[in-house]
Amino acid sequence: MVFVLICANHFNSIFEYYIRQLRRIFLSRGKRPKWMIEIAIERMNILFERAEMEFITHPERSHRYVDLARKLSTKYNTKIPEKWSRRYCRECGKFLYYGHNSSVRLVDEKVNIFCGECGHVMKIPYNKEKKIKRRAKYESIKKRNDE
Ligand SMILES: [Zn+2]
Repeated sequence: MVFVLICANHFNSIFEYYIRQLRRIFLSRGKRPKWMIEIAIERMNILFERAEMEFITHPERSHRYVDLARKLSTKYNTKIPEKWSRRYCRECGKFLYYGHNSSVRLVDEKVNIFCGECGHVMKIPYNKEKKIKRRAKYESIKKRNDE
């Protein structure tokens, strides 16, 4: 009887060891395998698309979707896709639907995105875009002169 108990104990400890190893592979922090990150990005895209679709009828649902997408991005250590990164409030984490609960203004070479839920203003400079535009213009003039 004692022998059986010891055996069971031993088996349990082996089992626990494997569970721990599996946890280390699948639930650990740090870098994830590429396929996991791709799936996470796909899910974030789907969540944000749903949030946009359902905002007018069920705004609370779209806020929840944003919450889930942000949790995914922290869990899988990836950025939220660039397309959607300006569509939620950094302060209160709610979904922003331009013209309904948020407004966008250009002030002092910055994009000011105002959140109508908490009153926070996100300020994103657009110097980079301006520089790219200027360079493209300069290059096109240069091309014309060369021809
Ligand atoms: Zn806000």
